[in-house]
Amino acid sequence: MKYVDKVLENLKKQNPNEPEFHQAATEILTTLAPIVEKHPEYEAAGLLERFVEPERVIMFRVPWVDDNGKVQVNKGYRVQFNSAIGPYKGGLRFHPSVNLSIIKFLGLEQILKNSLTGLPIGGGKGGSDFDPKGKSDREVMAFCQSFMTELYRHIGADTDVPAGDIGVGGREIGYLFGQYKRIRDEHVGVLTGRGLTYGGSLVRTEATGYGLVYITEEALKMRGDSFNGKTVVISGSGNVAIYACEKAQSLGAKVVAMYDSNGYIYDPDGIKLDIIKDIKEVKRGRIKEYAERVSGAEYHVGCKGIWSIPCDVALPCATQNEIDAESAGLLVKNGVKYVAEGANMPSTLEAIEVFQKSGIVFLPAKAANAGGVATSALEMAQSSGRMFWSFAEVDAKLKNIMVNIYHNIDNAAKEYGYEGNYVMGANIAGFIKVATAMMAHGIV
Ligand code: NDP
Repeated sequence: MKYVDKVLENLKKQNPNEPEFHQAATEILTTLAPIVEKHPEYEAAGLLERFVEPERVIMFRVPWVDDNGKVQVNKGYRVQFNSAIGPYKGGLRFHPSVNLSIIKFLGLEQILKNSLTGLPIGGGKGGSDFDPKGKSDREVMAFCQSFMTELYRHIGADTDVPAGDIGVGGREIGYLFGQYKRIRDEHVGVLTGRGLTYGGSLVRTEATGYGLVYITEEALKMRGDSFNGKTVVISGSGNVAIYACEKAQSLGAKVVAMYDSNGYIYDPDGIKLDIIKDIKEVKRGRIKEYAERVSGAEYHVGCKGIWSIPCDVALPCATQNEIDAESAGLLVKNGVKYVAEGANMPSTLEAIEVFQKSGIVFLPAKAANAGGVATSALEMAQSSGRMFWSFAEVDAKLKNIMVNIYHNIDNAAKEYGYEGNYVMGANIAGFIKVATAMMAHGIV
């Protein structure tokens, strides 16, 4: 049995009931076979066994009191997965679906994503099954303060630097940072995605969505094409989706559909993003309202139908496994040419196979959505250096990082004989740096 298969089999045995973690590990490990075969010393050093085992898993109780005076208890998680190339870095997700399997899949992906940015950051991820939706600001604050009252002892500007993810935006980061500062009496870069008045970086809010479009733009450019005139479908209507839409539109694309977890809107004239921002960022409302405010726009209950809309470019920006093989087949049948993942693991393994067999350009999450964490690392650099860079400066650095990632994964895929296979390219390019650092550190 091949080394990667042995490690995968053992991982499934040792971590039962963690389907998302198995899925991410399968996607990664099966593509690492060529590099592992080239380096027999990895097996001798148990490198893959160590790579798939988090350095530390922290799970804790988060008690808080709701507006009715009732005590609520949620689960808190922080998985410090790999610190070989830098302090743990990765977001916090607050969503009722959060469990250890989801945090571990996100953490494993994060190791390679962070490596691909070219910046010195290790991989981690965390969160809670707390649902901020429908909660008052006071309830969100009470939860965040309780969450940080445990988490503070495990993180630090040079140890582990969390950021946002689903359900964790500027408001939540503010409350989390406030509580950290209060307990530790330290105003340091311990969280990224901070507000601009207390150590945040310009472009961090836009970074994941903009970065997604920058890398896709480079893939288009290398094929003599551009976003201009392209029809684009974007799933989600949160942070990543909104800024992907903004940048794609600024490059001349027509974005015709978006969704939230209840249903999708289709606007054949092109989405009016100011209305989406008003509904989602200002009012924290439901996307259904868009069709009530814009004539000619349609609202459909349920999310899946969005993938039946013909488009040139699809940017899944909501959540894991939102595109299955059937949806992938529909996209291909209706003429999609580029799929770039803004969300983490939005395509199932079977969907990826459909995309790759059909020869469309498929840019996997760990490369395509790395702009967020890359800009977080730029925020860390500004915090450490007590500096504040201009929007144009950070945006230029972000674009440069995304263009470099594209060429890095393209070259890695070619070097190993898998030209155009960016899943292989991203996994191999990300892994080499981490593996080299782990080998240098000895058995730790
Ligand atoms: P937000 O919470 O801002 O937005 C999430 C969006 O996805 C919302 O529109 C939400 O709808 C929708 N959504 C969430 N869960 C589901 C579901 N089960 N079914 C359908 N729709 C769903 O999160 P982000 O935009 O920050 O994150 C989106 C994705 O991008 C995630 O996969 C995240 O891991 C990834 N990502 C985010 C980064 C960042 O910088 N923020 C960086 C890299 C990756 P609703 O409001 O109805 O819940």
